[in-house]
Amino acid sequence: SVSRPPLSFDGSVRQIKENMRWLPGGVSSNFRLGIAPTPLVFERGEGPFLFDIDGNRLIDYYLGMGPMILGHSPAGVRDAVKAQADKGILFAGQSAVETEAARRVCEMVPCAERVRFGSSGSEAVQGALRLARAATGRRIILKFEGHYHGWFDNILWSTAPALNAAGPEDAPVPVAGSVGQEAEAGGGIEVMAWNNLARLEARLAKGDVAGVIMEAAMCNAGAIHPGPGYLEGVREACTRTGTILIFDEVITGFRLSPGGAQKRFGVTPDLATFGKAIANGFPVAALAGRADLLDLFATGGVVHGGTYNAQCLSMAATVATLEALTPELFATLETRGTRLMNGIRDALAEAGIKASVAGFPQVFHVAFGLDQPARDYRDLTRINRLAYVAFTTALLKRGVRALERGAWFLSSEHDDAVIDETLAAVAAAARETKGEMS
Ligand code: PMP
Repeated sequence: SVSRPPLSFDGSVRQIKENMRWLPGGVSSNFRLGIAPTPLVFERGEGPFLFDIDGNRLIDYYLGMGPMILGHSPAGVRDAVKAQADKGILFAGQSAVETEAARRVCEMVPCAERVRFGSSGSEAVQGALRLARAATGRRIILKFEGHYHGWFDNILWSTAPALNAAGPEDAPVPVAGSVGQEAEAGGGIEVMAWNNLARLEARLAKGDVAGVIMEAAMCNAGAIHPGPGYLEGVREACTRTGTILIFDEVITGFRLSPGGAQKRFGVTPDLATFGKAIANGFPVAALAGRADLLDLFATGGVVHGGTYNAQCLSMAATVATLEALTPELFATLETRGTRLMNGIRDALAEAGIKASVAGFPQVFHVAFGLDQPARDYRDLTRINRLAYVAFTTALLKRGVRALERGAWFLSSEHDDAVIDETLAAVAAAARETKGEMS
């Protein structure tokens, strides 16, 4: 391939500096801070591409941190939202488009007998925790090291991406994720290592746990598969002990399969939370699950509100997105994602970089320094993060945008030509990075 001069991001550097007069750090989320060489400022997105204010065309594997499974600005979603905008935006009442979105979620997702819509994954998680405690009359929520369930005080403990593992592996100590977090808010939380069934069974046997919440495939720290029989065992232990099983499918939902991780792995939780890919970039989240649990919102005195819940533009985007998520689309994602994963693995090996490329074709993780896929969060404390940042920086200079913490998201618009272009950049960036490492 023809070698081009590295891209420049001077316009973004200047704009972020100016933004700092109004926006802390120049950005609107902590997870957009500190990106090398600079947080980027964009003008437009189309299919697999983003166009920044320096005029660069970037192949995008952030995909909005997961939502854009149909790529940027897909015509179907755009048209549905425009048509809805002519009819109305927010009614503080029900609408036909909301009913249609709910029907589709309940048809696609195994656990979904009922669904409540909201605006963010963090909020949907709060609803799930409240239902679990209301239904059981118990207090404790078990979560797992490295699993992220939003930024609220009561659940931001021992979470990605800080890699803040503490205590011995068989008795982890909960670590607050933020300065200013109320310590007492962690009083109802216990943290365990994921993928260890015996330990979880022993803990649940005490009969005092309200709910177990997990990413059914751990996608916020690595992209780690549940071990053989693990989800089935967790399901059984929860049923046996009257514990509510919650899958946080904010990343995996409508991405690992049309019915999420629960459909892919064939294990049905009591409750599940969704966001991201459900509406291809519109602020939609969903809390779905057993009718007897969700109906506690209607008749059990359990409160869940939200001015923007089931806002009409978001519901139109949801219907249009779910309609597009056909089995054929998922088959294509599997084929192309597998080719991309294999290509990256080969290019890194060729350059002499030890790395694991693991996860799922629709969302996978590249970990420098590991020669085997990570099995849990503690394995990820051994990755070579600095070298990986050098690699993503080298990729960006060549027009490919991938998350510095190792995750790659795929959309239906990343076709074979885009993947070829990506792999050429990966090969060159790997050689450059290897040069800097030695
Ligand atoms: N749960 C999981 C598994 C997530 O990945 C995220 C966001 N990355 C959330 C919850 C929180 O969702 P939101 O950012 O929409 O509040």
